[in-house]
Amino acid sequence: MKVPFLDLKAQYLSIKYEIDLAIHQVIDNSAFAGGPFVEKFEKAFAPYCQCKEAIGVGSGTDALWIALIALGIGDGDEVITVPSSFIATAEAISFTGAKPVFVDIDKDTCNMNPDLIEAAITSRTKAIIPVHLFGQMADMDPIIKIANKRNLFVIEDACQAHGAEYKGKRAGSIGDAGCFSFYPGKNLGAYGEAGAVVTNNAGLAEIMRIFRDHGQSKKYCHKIIGWNGRMDGIQGAILEAKLKHLSAWNDARREHAGVYKELLKDIDRISLPVEMTQTKHVYHIYAIKTKRRDELIKYLTEKEISCGIHYPVPIHLQDAYKNMGLKKGCFPASENCADEFVSLPMFPELSRDQIEFVAQEIINFIKTVDS
Ligand SMILES: *Cc1c(COP(=O)(O)O)cnc(C)c1O
Repeated sequence: MKVPFLDLKAQYLSIKYEIDLAIHQVIDNSAFAGGPFVEKFEKAFAPYCQCKEAIGVGSGTDALWIALIALGIGDGDEVITVPSSFIATAEAISFTGAKPVFVDIDKDTCNMNPDLIEAAITSRTKAIIPVHLFGQMADMDPIIKIANKRNLFVIEDACQAHGAEYKGKRAGSIGDAGCFSFYPGKNLGAYGEAGAVVTNNAGLAEIMRIFRDHGQSKKYCHKIIGWNGRMDGIQGAILEAKLKHLSAWNDARREHAGVYKELLKDIDRISLPVEMTQTKHVYHIYAIKTKRRDELIKYLTEKEISCGIHYPVPIHLQDAYKNMGLKKGCFPASENCADEFVSLPMFPELSRDQIEFVAQEIINFIKTVDS
């Protein structure tokens, strides 16, 4: 049985009428760059995130960068984040002129370990960016407590966590700003590139709204030196149509995760994702860990099961950041995850048969290793 890692076509076919209508409305109105369809999406996405404001931008990377810029972070500043993320988190920091300062993750939840933050704070530290990896929110209470005590901003990298919750609070609503990506494969995915920042701070929202549109408060009246960071109208319309389905899609992912867990929980040599109590994990990625990672992926590939690795090299060991001088051994939990993670097929349209097949083949693989 062929099991893809992700099936965007299946999702399109399930809502084809709504998507086609959304796209044609934008074309009929020639509202391509920013405009009313983006605004309509922003008005729906902000309350979905339990926030007052949402600002649609060009990508998740833009969202992070614009949030940092709007908070005044730049040359000479330091921003604390984790090395176990997609590189965009660090890139956004670097492209303000600030320096990313890494702290390791907790080995069970694979999110920022709050116990390590204080030792990383210096007089230059301005902000903390926890990443809600794979759809589970970082342990926000201790992070917010440290940020308040040390007068730091908190920007949530919620690019993998649309609709995730921590003690009843939605991803993006706890920090000063929350940044989302709508890259096609994300839990809420555009049909191209898009992102958004959410916040409850009206002043900050206003700066970001102006900044993403060349610093314009009205046409050709440029208050600040801004940038072109607008969301496409077509993406806004598609995202507004898809947002109505997001809760059901997240529920389906959680249900699939439950089936994987049921079938794999007693299997030696693999560890399953750890769900913190009081969080709602939305399983953007379902990553298991095993010391036999490369062999397992090879075995599953032969059975036509597609897997991923998120991410095979932690950010501090990437060539792009080699001038920071951080070596293997600096962040053991992040490095261990990079060595052992395997992301199993996970998307709302996955069938129970497919999940059972994947689980059975993992069990078969473990038997070959043990025999
Ligand atoms: C996808 C992602 C980003 C970047 O989003 P883009 O829309 O691809 O720019 C940033 N951080 C994390 C954790 C992501 O998963």
